[in-house]
Amino acid sequence: MGSFLKIPAARPDGWIPGLPPRPRFPILRRMRIHSAEFITSAAGLPGCPAWATPEFAFIGRSNVGKSSMINLLANRHGLAKVSATPGKTRLLNFFLMNGSWSLVDLPGYGYAKADKGEKFDFNALAGDYLEQRENLRRVFVLIDSRHPPQRIDVDFVAWLGTTGALFSLVFTKADKQSAAKTKANIALFQETISPFLGVQPETLASSAKTRAGRDEILRVVSRSLGN
Ligand code: GDP
Repeated sequence: MGSFLKIPAARPDGWIPGLPPRPRFPILRRMRIHSAEFITSAAGLPGCPAWATPEFAFIGRSNVGKSSMINLLANRHGLAKVSATPGKTRLLNFFLMNGSWSLVDLPGYGYAKADKGEKFDFNALAGDYLEQRENLRRVFVLIDSRHPPQRIDVDFVAWLGTTGALFSLVFTKADKQSAAKTKANIALFQETISPFLGVQPETLASSAKTRAGRDEILRVVSRSLGN
């Protein structure tokens, strides 16, 4: 009995000859970082680069893993060290990535000892930048995934929501506990901030150790750049 349709045998790679050529790239291309260059540190808004380059800012509590994540994104050990040198931690640090977009390392936030207990210590310059910078495309807020929601992160995210800036939440150090625990802490955080925000920000888990989250962050950047 003859068959009506002769379907050619699939090749070992699963491709069937005769069908349109397999696309050379997946639809959502991964962004490759081929250059990462420190540009300048700014001590005030007038010191920020006078360019229209799209900027993506990174901020979080100190020790959250920000430098490690920036180095991972850039594939360059020690790149973010520039910001860790004494006296430079209160500056805005600009890096040019692939010659086309800028990664901005913002001073971290924390609690400072004050007369009556602890005072929310948030760098005024970072605040001005987040409120006023026109070419700021998105903020990545880094939060330690090991803990249930911390007041300081919740306060910061609630404030950021009032600025109108677009932002994503990156839950760092996910290698330190089970995926279930990370997921639970992310869900708790979302639940805690939801009364303060109109739109729920996207969240992702990351680890500088396993490189988790790197592609996702770069994909968010890529999407924002319209690539
Ligand atoms: P920053 O102060 O926010 O810039 O934080 P760092 O990047 O300097 O990291 C603070 C500490 O956490 C360092 O000892 C890092 O080695 C460690 N660390 C950062 N990211 C990770 C991570 O994803 N996994 C683990 N296990 N440790 C991390």
